[in-house]
Amino acid sequence: MVTQQTDSNESVAQNITRLNLLAPESTCSTDLASNPWDTATGYGPGASQEDKIPANYPKQGSIPQQYLNASDAELDTRILAAKEKLGEKAVILGHFYQRDEVVKYADFVGDSFQLANAALTKDKAEAIVFCGVHFMAETADILSRDDQAVILPNLAAGCSMADMADGPSVQQCWEELTALYADEEDDGRMPVIPVTYMNCSAELKAFVGRNGGLVCTSSNAATVLEWAFERGRRVLFFPDQHLGRNTAKAMGVPLEQMPMWSPRKELGGNDSQTLLDAKVILWHGFCSVHKRFTPAQIAKAREDFPGVQVIVHPECPMEVVDAADSAGSTDFIQKAIAAATEPTTFAIGTEINMVNRLAAQYPQHTIFCLDPVICPCSTMYRIHPGYLAWVLEELVEGRVVNQITVPAEQQGDAKIALERMLAAKP
Ligand code: SF4
Repeated sequence: MVTQQTDSNESVAQNITRLNLLAPESTCSTDLASNPWDTATGYGPGASQEDKIPANYPKQGSIPQQYLNASDAELDTRILAAKEKLGEKAVILGHFYQRDEVVKYADFVGDSFQLANAALTKDKAEAIVFCGVHFMAETADILSRDDQAVILPNLAAGCSMADMADGPSVQQCWEELTALYADEEDDGRMPVIPVTYMNCSAELKAFVGRNGGLVCTSSNAATVLEWAFERGRRVLFFPDQHLGRNTAKAMGVPLEQMPMWSPRKELGGNDSQTLLDAKVILWHGFCSVHKRFTPAQIAKAREDFPGVQVIVHPECPMEVVDAADSAGSTDFIQKAIAAATEPTTFAIGTEINMVNRLAAQYPQHTIFCLDPVICPCSTMYRIHPGYLAWVLEELVEGRVVNQITVPAEQQGDAKIALERMLAAKP
């Protein structure tokens, strides 16, 4: 196992390449580092490259060869020039997990919901360029004005977790559950309330809005579950099993009342009684980045750095959250580090771009990623600076490419689900 730490000023591409040379069998895929261009003509919801492309989804614009050939220095000059020309007409958003080579051009850096809201403060923006992944751009489109275009520089930037819950599978699950609960005695509460993590398609946000449910973020999941438990007997939580389990467990829900729903199996692979006794039904989804963290890594960090503070994201498996000193959203992690008044050693369980940025931002502390083998969010990594240069220069010419538009029939219900979340109080 490689234990070498990375220099926070190195690019993720350099880190991946170097670590693969050191331990080729144990690192992430290198294909994006060697060839970051997506030449496929379209994408699917969440935009994994393997997805079948639905007929009505937008097609990836054809990026001209000049952007593929441009040097980093040339792209830098062109991005800055385009940004200057566009002025307040365009706002660039960079997610915490986005690579530094792109984040440095962002007007705002934050989590997906913070960014969608930040864009709303830019009244004059005609274009919102979201350097994140597909579901984030969809959320920005739901919350933005009709006359604002939301652009995802590379339509192949999706989220593997969001892909794990698709509309037809969730609908099938819903129908099976509502049929099972139809004979229960009416006590004034809904038999089951759907709750979706922000990391899902607009189609699913609309689904929960239509069916009396709401959206949650990793910051407010407990508040949202409380809201749901006041109104319903149970919660169907998707797509991230870990956020659902970690949050409900901290609220006192026993593990045996949190069965897992495996799509494509009858009753999700459960018997009826288990689902009748359930308090939270967890969808079989996870984040491929946060799944990599283990209790063994925490034990090693404690051995190597006595007194280390271990903070992990709640998308990590339960055993990891249990072994950590604390768990919370990207915002929580950032605030915890900012609040430390004495030099402290922090081992962080979240995406490497964010950890490296925090290490550079707080040099008085020792901050490192729990996973010694660097693993960025590979789908977000698809936003190469060349794509950013391309969409910005197209905007300068008055053309919008790679626009994300949530269908009108999903907009209203999805907005209701987001508004319920904002209205939910602990
Ligand atoms: S870090 Fe995980 S949940 Fe977040 S965008 Fe990447 S794959 Fe999706």
